[in-house]
Amino acid sequence: MAFLVRSLSSKLARRAATSLRASYTTHSMLPEEHRMIYEMCRKFADEELAPNAHEWDKKHSFPKEAVAQLAELGLMGINIPGEYNGSELDALSYAIAMEEISRGCASVGVIMSAHNSLYLYPIQAFGTPEQHEQWIAPYAKCTTGNGDLKVGCFGLSEPGNGSDAGAASTTAKLEGDEWVLNGTKAWITNAHESSAAVVFATTDKSLKHKGISAFVVPMDSPGFSLGAKEDKLGIRASSTANLIMDQVRIPKDCLIGKQGEGFKIAMQTLDGGRIGVAGQALGIASASIDCAVKYALERHAFGKPISNLQSIQNKISAMVVARDSARLLTWRAAQLKDSKQKYTREAAMAKLAASEAATMCAHQAIQILGGMGYVSDMPAERHYRDARITEIYEGTSEIQHLVIAGDVIKEYKSAA
Ligand SMILES: Cc1cc2nc3c(=O)[nH]c(=O)nc-3n(C[C@H](O)[C@H](O)[C@H](O)COP(=O)(O)OP(=O)(O)OC[C@H]3O[C@@H](n4cnc5c(N)ncnc54)[C@H](O)[C@@H]3O)c2cc1C
Repeated sequence: MAFLVRSLSSKLARRAATSLRASYTTHSMLPEEHRMIYEMCRKFADEELAPNAHEWDKKHSFPKEAVAQLAELGLMGINIPGEYNGSELDALSYAIAMEEISRGCASVGVIMSAHNSLYLYPIQAFGTPEQHEQWIAPYAKCTTGNGDLKVGCFGLSEPGNGSDAGAASTTAKLEGDEWVLNGTKAWITNAHESSAAVVFATTDKSLKHKGISAFVVPMDSPGFSLGAKEDKLGIRASSTANLIMDQVRIPKDCLIGKQGEGFKIAMQTLDGGRIGVAGQALGIASASIDCAVKYALERHAFGKPISNLQSIQNKISAMVVARDSARLLTWRAAQLKDSKQKYTREAAMAKLAASEAATMCAHQAIQILGGMGYVSDMPAERHYRDARITEIYEGTSEIQHLVIAGDVIKEYKSAA
């Protein structure tokens, strides 16, 4: 917290705009501290991310400097305590920051969310003080003296199982004082830039999901290698690749939590991660709305701006209603997390609604831009490509429906 407040007061807060845009009026209901984070991130996104997002996407290039700037702003250890170089901010701050950063560049959004929600969180929540010192402190700081980055990633999915995470086939075997890991993790965000990974592996396959354990794995361990970068539809400035483990030996104390607790750790991590993905999706929705409304005001057809046409107005209205509803669901989930209440159902609702809002807004933005929506001169087509992933990772929309309905049915059954 102290770190972020220092950053706020030193640079960006000085530059932060004092008035909120009409399309962001929901932020005026936030406490002052959250509004400051919002304004800081908005300014950073407008000045440093949005102008470069097209180039990063086109070249598939990892935005190393922008990630270093995120670290300087305290956003690469946003929920981590100050003693471990974090900003000590709450989940609501994280959701707000994720939306604004992703509005500027959705790839930077996923780099930030995989590092914060998926790598740092499980170690923070389930790790020992020694693990915090070793595996959180340098990563929450994120930058090193020699200009390198310390980024982390999360290996749950495998080539043979994604939604069915309990069916992990990567194995971990205790041999003396070391765990020996074998297997492949698929689709891993930040794989090519990370130096440590939280990896889930089974220590006893007969126990199914109860046999899974979580480990923090140094990625320079002998036997650890990476697959080629995936050539993706969207979020192309972030890397996605396989983690391949062939007889990887790690110290015994790299186990996170207790043996057999891995599935619980993964599910709890994904609950929080879904707030981050919801934030990312909201950012893409907002960027699509910005692009569409500005264009509709400028573009004339039949002698008047297309913003005067009712069918265009209907689209704009539907986009804003979907985005704002999803934002309120996201903030509710974050506030439940902050107040240490159950939030699994609410995080799934937020992620489902926000990702559907993102794909709808990006789709309609292209429609409003007509031909200009279909070419890369305008960002609408990138938003459309970027939006799609939010309905897939950290649980597909179908899985969010299962989580939500399952929880509702459980509630009714227990009340009966
Ligand atoms: C760009 C990208 C980045 C990613 N980053 C990471 C990462 O950092 N770490 C990580 O561990 N993983 C990551 N993933 C993996 C991602 O989480 C999975 O792709 C996702 O969980 C879906 O798994 P799957 O691809 O195996 O699809 P499958 O599980 O094979 O699903 C295929 C289809 O079947 C449906 N389906 C499956 N089971 C059910 C069910 N029970 N009920 C109804 N429908 C069902 C799904 O909804 C989907 O429509 C990433 C993926 C991508 C594409």
